[in-house]
Amino acid sequence: MPYFCSLMTDSKRYLVTAALPYANGPVHIGHLAGCYLPADIYVRYLKALGHDVVFICGSDEHGVPITIKAKKEGITPQQVVDKYHGIMQDAFKNFGIEFSYYGRTSSETHHHTAQEFFKNLYDKGVFKEEITRQYFDEEANQFLADRYITGTCPRCGNPNAYGDQCEKCGTSLSPTDLINPRSALSGNVPVLKETKNWFLPMGEIQGSADFQDYIKRFENWKSNIKGQCASWLNDGLQSRAMTRDLDWGVPVPLPDAEGKVLYVWFDAPIGYISATKEYFAQNGNPDAWKNYWQNEETSLVHFIGKDNIVFHAIIFPMMLMTHGEYNLPVNVPANEFLNLEGDKISTSRNWAVWLHEYLNDFPGRQDELRYVLSSISPETKDSEFTWKDYQTRVNSELVSIFGNFVNRVAVLAQKYYSGVVPENPALKDEKLLTAKANLDRDVDASIQKMNDLLSQVKLRDAQSEWMNIARAGNKFLAETEPWKLVKTDEESVKAIMFAAIQVCAKLAVSAQVFLPHTAKKLAAILNLENFSWHLLNQAEIIATGANLGVAEILYKPVEDVEIEQQLNRLSSIKAAQVEQPKASSLQEVKSDIAYEDFEKIDLRVGKVLEAERVPKADKLLKLTVDLGFEKRTILSGIAEYYKPEELVGKLVTVVANLAPRKIRGIESQGMLLMAGNDFGKLFNVGPENDIEPGSVVK
Ligand SMILES: [Zn+2]
Repeated sequence: MPYFCSLMTDSKRYLVTAALPYANGPVHIGHLAGCYLPADIYVRYLKALGHDVVFICGSDEHGVPITIKAKKEGITPQQVVDKYHGIMQDAFKNFGIEFSYYGRTSSETHHHTAQEFFKNLYDKGVFKEEITRQYFDEEANQFLADRYITGTCPRCGNPNAYGDQCEKCGTSLSPTDLINPRSALSGNVPVLKETKNWFLPMGEIQGSADFQDYIKRFENWKSNIKGQCASWLNDGLQSRAMTRDLDWGVPVPLPDAEGKVLYVWFDAPIGYISATKEYFAQNGNPDAWKNYWQNEETSLVHFIGKDNIVFHAIIFPMMLMTHGEYNLPVNVPANEFLNLEGDKISTSRNWAVWLHEYLNDFPGRQDELRYVLSSISPETKDSEFTWKDYQTRVNSELVSIFGNFVNRVAVLAQKYYSGVVPENPALKDEKLLTAKANLDRDVDASIQKMNDLLSQVKLRDAQSEWMNIARAGNKFLAETEPWKLVKTDEESVKAIMFAAIQVCAKLAVSAQVFLPHTAKKLAAILNLENFSWHLLNQAEIIATGANLGVAEILYKPVEDVEIEQQLNRLSSIKAAQVEQPKASSLQEVKSDIAYEDFEKIDLRVGKVLEAERVPKADKLLKLTVDLGFEKRTILSGIAEYYKPEELVGKLVTVVANLAPRKIRGIESQGMLLMAGNDFGKLFNVGPENDIEPGSVVK
């Protein structure tokens, strides 16, 4: 199989995907900047070049976030996805994210495709059937997969890590990795119960020649994705269950798998395949999807956010590889996260700029947001959106540089030539000739750079080169001053205006990839119909004698009051949250237990003899504790609150009969009691007076 190592291949056929968003909430600027806007810009670029591109996305309608949302709102999972599927699709459409097809994973085609895929791997003997002990909520009578279980992250100590992932440090987890696991359904401590599931033996596949060949492609990928993959691969991949004991999802197509569905990260990426099938079926060409998935001349590119890297760069390729009939991705451009006004964007805390709300407050100003988000795109590291910065970039770049240039040219062309493109007589004046030579040089250089950057998916810098074209145009007008020259040298003014109109045309052609709404308006102003990218290589796009359209102001400046309104909205959200934790940070009292149950816990006074940090675990301390009758090694997630030396000599309360568990390769033989809520510091709960280690706490 040939490998397409970078995007600069000869391939003329592309399948580009954008991560399937969970259909459990509306779309915000973090989604847009993270994956959909970059994917859209890249697709528009490929299409402008004349390539054959299919651009696929859709709603991910399975997975625990959907069922949790349904429980919270008291409706069915189907009602949740039906509600948000439409909202998300509209938001993307309004912002000009032009998918070829936007599917949904609850569709029949998808269920079939995912089941067939699973069956194919099953029949090949790829999966390892294993009976394991999984957490089970006895009150809810349900196994607790993924987000149904929360607990403390063993790597960073985040007390609210999920069973499949810690969102704080990005580590991928299994529910049994969590310290102090709790059911997200009832808050109860879950029990372990045996169940059968089917595992993808990722460690074995990692060692295969095919996979080792595949990962050579990483060499040409962005450093953030290379780094994350390298750390996964260096740690050695573990088998991962591809099925779950849940009732919402794609049923596992095996006779002995009742009550089990496919793991959402098994079925979701197959959603790209099923959406492609649906797209071509609707176009009356039901077999054409194979050309995009199974023909080696097609380049497969996945746009995603950094939280999805492992699934798209490792797990899904392993699935495709073991299936054997599919292409593997040639690139997985992943963006980092976008923050908002100094804080992480969060759906649950309502800390976001929602696209539908933005459209309400700034109607018709989608391109302003596209421009700002691309300018601050978190391509290599997290970046931040602030409303002040939004105002500055719109007013001092879009309005003052680009908008101003286009408007001046359009207005002068109407005024001098009634909107007809003038002739282009040869310039004679030395100063004007120099200005024109500088214009040509600067515009050509920016177009060349923009083109190179777009092909390398460096979209932020590509857009800034686009703005440089307008800068060069402004500089040219400032140097030649046609509005003064027109009184003395009308012939030269014709040549100047002719050149300026060509720059406007180049701006319009190249704006189509970044700012599609603007490109349309500008095309109308210029009466430009052909949008081919190859026009950018021509000195003349709009000929002498052509009629221009009506001049129109492209953008209005963002007013201070508009920014204040947005900032006020955000501060009221912050204020509401600061008040809340007082009441809500205290956990609800757990259900009653019998005295005999309490009696089972053996609490003892211990004395800390030694304390040290655990390498590579920021939150963990390794303690040696004297319990009187013996010395114990105990790991505790308190490194954020206590320095090792502060603890030595302290009396602590130890759960002495807690079954030992291994954390980061070290066996912890007990647990310290600490007081605290989920937000603040933890405090040692030890005896008030000096008392002998080993004494019983009762
Ligand atoms: Zn963590």
